Amino acid sequence: EPATPIYKRILLKLSGEALMGDDAFGINQATIERMVGEVADVVAKGVEVAVVIGGGNIFRGVAGGSAGMDRATADYMGMLATVMNALALADAMNKQGLTARVMSAIGIEQVVEPYVRPKALQYLEEGKVVVFAAGTGNPFFTTDTAAALRGAEIGAELVLKATKVDGVYTADPMKDPTATRYTHLTFDEAMTQNLGIMDATAFALCRDQKLPIKVFSIVKPGALGRVVCGADEGTLVHA
Ligand code: UDP
Repeated sequence: EPATPIYKRILLKLSGEALMGDDAFGINQATIERMVGEVADVVAKGVEVAVVIGGGNIFRGVAGGSAGMDRATADYMGMLATVMNALALADAMNKQGLTARVMSAIGIEQVVEPYVRPKALQYLEEGKVVVFAAGTGNPFFTTDTAAALRGAEIGAELVLKATKVDGVYTADPMKDPTATRYTHLTFDEAMTQNLGIMDATAFALCRDQKLPIKVFSIVKPGALGRVVCGADEGTLVHA
């Protein structure tokens, strides 16, 4: 099994739901600690790690919108939800011996510092884990798009999209036992086959910037560590 990282700097996208574990809502402490353990493992391997955290375990703008709320207002609530997750994540990171810094795309300075690109780069160079909160800072976007955006900004070599399924499959593996996993795909293949790797804005940004995306399972123990070492696990989407 390969044990040497092939990436120097990565951007990990964690959905809010990844923090729920088997709970129906919110943050499961054991789950968050396990996930941080995975991050600590790759940091120990010398990889610079930035994280974009979602908020879907707490609030999603679309849900508020369809319930009758003003969509932009609902999206700001969603962004605030990601700040809560970022605080929990950074807290767990610090407790496990990492040095985490949360940077928010919206001004909320009594709680976390604002996103300033050169500062984020400095933290990464110092081996700190940077947790990007509040998505892109704009309503009508998603944290997947924030992952693509921040990934491109910090010069990450790979965006890691953590999911419950181990990569992209020819069909839904939960429903179709004959479904097979794509080991790798080009952006064009993913697009023509309508595989829905990330939302369209996020996907277009990665494609334009030739920023590869690895879809992998965060549920599988050690997967993150193996993926940064180039293991054939999950699905790599590349130019
Ligand atoms: N959001 C937003 N702009 C952004 C990122 C997020 O308005 O740039 C809001 C949006 O309402 C979204 C919520 O924050 O539903 C939570 O983010 P997301 O749904 O991407 O979280 P995830 O699905 O990854 O948990």
